[in-house]
Amino acid sequence: MQGERVQLKIRFEDREWDFDEDEIDVRQATVLYLTYKMTLREWIEGVSQVDQRSLHFTYWLMLQQNGVIKPIADCNPKIIAFGVAYGDAREEQLAEEHGHAGRRCVPDKDGNCQLEQQAAEPGPTSPPSTSPGPASPEPSTPTAPARARRAQTEEATGY
Ligand SMILES: [Zn+2]
Repeated sequence: MQGERVQLKIRFEDREWDFDEDEIDVRQATVLYLTYKMTLREWIEGVSQVDQRSLHFTYWLMLQQNGVIKPIADCNPKIIAFGVAYGDAREEQLAEEHGHAGRRCVPDKDGNCQLEQQAAEPGPTSPPSTSPGPASPEPSTPTAPARARRAQTEEATGY
């Protein structure tokens, strides 16, 4: 689903923190490596597996992204509580992306969110469509020329 990126809003330690894992920079990633010898992939996977190293680093990064700069060794949050707060924020973010903000995701047996499917479908009161639509609408590809131009530029500049 395309649209505005939704930042995580993590409510923890009596305040709300903005968090966006995609905003991590190289220096921050280097702290991750120097502290825990973890790659970005291991960190991201570790967060969903409640790996305490990943959560510790996430906490430190969250502070940084909100202007609180301190050594990771000085960060000692209640780590289970932080994991729960992070999980809640992630659920809220998903619900917003699915178009059912305020209600928790309801996954079906395939793991797809039922509320998202309901939000995408027309309501049950709309009249059934009687005329068949066009067989195959032409997909528009406005980005293709731009991609080609960018490729040429990269060749020219030697990247
Ligand atoms: Zn959902």
